Amino acid sequence: MRTIELNKRQQTILQIVKDHGPITGEHIADRLHLTRATLRPDLAILTMAGYLDARPRVGYFYTGKTGSQLLTEKIKKIQVHEFSSIPVVVPESSTVYEAICTMFLEDVGTLFIVNKNSHLVGVVSRKDLLRASMGKQELNAIPINIIMTRMPNITYCFKEDHLLDVAHILIQKQIDGLPVVKKAPNDEGYEVVGRITKTNITKAFVELARDEMII
Ligand code: ADP
Repeated sequence: MRTIELNKRQQTILQIVKDHGPITGEHIADRLHLTRATLRPDLAILTMAGYLDARPRVGYFYTGKTGSQLLTEKIKKIQVHEFSSIPVVVPESSTVYEAICTMFLEDVGTLFIVNKNSHLVGVVSRKDLLRASMGKQELNAIPINIIMTRMPNITYCFKEDHLLDVAHILIQKQIDGLPVVKKAPNDEGYEVVGRITKTNITKAFVELARDEMII
């Protein structure tokens, strides 16, 4: 696993704080024969990355956390809303044919089915639609709500949930994505406000690696 790569000066600062902390910015600067202003960006990076903590009038101290501990903490904190996408919903009055068209036009792998109050009632995946297309039936004559996975069997999440928990659920249930929902007014069901898929989680993974590399 790649962790934050500190430059030589940042490593020296870290060592000074480990050995002499808590220590003020001025004292660190004195030891390095540099100005406080020159050190400011390095101290900001070390603090933001979680290696150092700062207390007013006390100075900097070492948190004792390794790069991989900090990365793990960062991963665990990511919430669903930071990476979710716009959901694609179809009314439950749609036919299988209409759902197939929507799936192609919107370029998604999962559709969420909603009732006339816009509450989530079902989910259909690519394979559900393929299965329905295998018979000799007229696709325009098959209502989507016959083939969908329906409530209460839908797994969903909320925007404040942790992305890592969603990733575990996707693996455990062997599905591609979850609708992100919020409780509808009057406690009557759920409205779909987003979707989170394996692709979103891959994006989070790539972004995390890119952030680590910049530092
Ligand atoms: P595919 O079937 O195209 O590989 P999935 O693995 O996501 O796509 O779906 C597998 C099955 O699980 C399908 O029957 C689908 O209706 C159902 N499913 C998909 N997402 C959910 C979900 N969030 N909750 C419950 N069932 C789901």
